[in-house]
Amino acid sequence: MKHSFRGGIHIREHKNTATCAVIPLKPPARVAIPLSQHIGIPCGPLVAVGDTVKKGQVIGRAEGGLVCPVHSSVSGKVSAIRTRRNIHGMAVTDIVIDNDGQDTWDESIHPLAASPNEATVEEILAATEAAGISGMGGASFPTHAKLRSAIGRVDTLLINCAECEPYITANHRLLLEDPHAVLGGTLLLARVLGLSCGCLVVEDNKPDAIALLRELCQQEYPALTVAVVRTKYPQGDERQLIRAVKGRELPPGKLPADVGCVVFNAETAASVFRAVAYGRPLCERIVTVDGDCVREPNNLLVPIGTPVSDLIAACGGLTEEPARMVSGGPMMGFAIWQEDEPVTKGTSALLLLSKKASAGYEGAHECIRCGRCVGVCPMRLLPNYIAAYTRAGDYENAAANGAMSCVECGSCAYICPAGIPIVQYVRAAKAVLRQKKS
Ligand code: SF4
Ligand code: SF4
Repeated sequence: MKHSFRGGIHIREHKNTATCAVIPLKPPARVAIPLSQHIGIPCGPLVAVGDTVKKGQVIGRAEGGLVCPVHSSVSGKVSAIRTRRNIHGMAVTDIVIDNDGQDTWDESIHPLAASPNEATVEEILAATEAAGISGMGGASFPTHAKLRSAIGRVDTLLINCAECEPYITANHRLLLEDPHAVLGGTLLLARVLGLSCGCLVVEDNKPDAIALLRELCQQEYPALTVAVVRTKYPQGDERQLIRAVKGRELPPGKLPADVGCVVFNAETAASVFRAVAYGRPLCERIVTVDGDCVREPNNLLVPIGTPVSDLIAACGGLTEEPARMVSGGPMMGFAIWQEDEPVTKGTSALLLLSKKASAGYEGAHECIRCGRCVGVCPMRLLPNYIAAYTRAGDYENAAANGAMSCVECGSCAYICPAGIPIVQYVRAAKAVLRQKKS
């Protein structure tokens, strides 16, 4: 049986790299590792300019609250500590490290004494925290904190393998090339939560991954199951996933744990497995590089902190100057304006799009009151009203029409025949409303 949800849109998938096996990127000459890659308190630097660092060494940490340590992705020398604006417009500090090319791992990296099958709940949590794992689907919430807050509150563990954004195939390749890491990680997450089972949720446009996962579940992981969901955007949003698979409605302002569910991204689960089994910190990730302006679209395994220019070069360079450079998918991703923007733990894709390829994802005209945005909104909001009120500076009425419940999926803006950038209006309304509240 295939599950789905109300609303959403069918968009051209552009999964051009679905058959491109992941290639390890040649380690860059220099990395710039942001000290703030997660939701929560930014880390402070533990190193100074001139220090020698090893791969996997902790170079940033914060104490108390929502924190997630940062590790070096190369061995080498710290050449600068700089502050800049990131793609979200926030000031962030980067540790810049010149790679010595030796790939020398830090001595602190070692697996747990126990095998993953015997690791205790506290050992799994400690390994997850020490490895600096935060949600790799884009949310970037510290995984150890999400786990701790869900203990005793959930009866359902879902692993998000939907990957519903156009172009991105990083999770798809991970499922095909390293399924045991994802499945092993799912078992570890389930153990922490005190659950005897877990469910991997995959869109039906990945039949090869579905077949492989089902076979492995049957033969080696009987506690795990695979749920197939219809390919529809934004199926990967955790609210839609929970609604589709469990039929549970998540009220506005509530978290999945409030309806007994917790959702982790597939690559996050794999990172938890690697942290527990091998003691590996999160210092590299899979990035899909695609778009009509890149010569050879591909999937790359990229050290965190690598400038996006290195990814473009590894994919044969550009065929033309892109009108839009995007970190993440075209629907929910963020514009990049500088080629030395570093890859972070949350970077699932780099898209280089021409003006023609960007059309349909943006615009700016007058509302013709067709109501299409209302029909596709998975959160059952009135996007046209939110946009209109925000445009008029009436943030109270934007809030009354549900601005704060918007998951910023972009379906409304995509479908809008007038090309109104509705999500940008919603984001603006949210920013003002949050500021008023604080
Ligand atoms: S209003 Fe928000 S949740 Fe609804 S379709 Fe638009 S972006 Fe998605
Ligand atoms: S889809 Fe666009 S034009 Fe139609 S009602 Fe919504 S905002 Fe207006």
